[in-house]
Amino acid sequence: MRISSPPFKNPCFYGIDTPDRKELIGAQKSVEEIRKAINADSLHFLTKDGLIDSIGKLANEADGGHCTACFDNVYPTPVPDDEAAAAAASCACD
Ligand code: SF4
Repeated sequence: MRISSPPFKNPCFYGIDTPDRKELIGAQKSVEEIRKAINADSLHFLTKDGLIDSIGKLANEADGGHCTACFDNVYPTPVPDDEAAAAAASCACD
């Protein structure tokens, strides 16, 4: 199985209805653990760099770059401290 996105590891605070990290398999399991959980022969995700290269802009570029927070936990605006702290505490991402 090939996924055309990096693993979704962090909640979105900007309008996409995503669960918190404890409900995101990308935050809770390694790629190999996910592969086993979905019973796939192999599993690969697009890298964040590959995603950014494919759309031709840098992440968080000042003049209109793209948010990548759900992949890398780098939010372009402040997010609520308690939610961010809780999210960081439960993050299994690197
Ligand atoms: S890239 Fe940013 S705005 Fe888009 S879903 Fe992820 S966290 Fe939300």
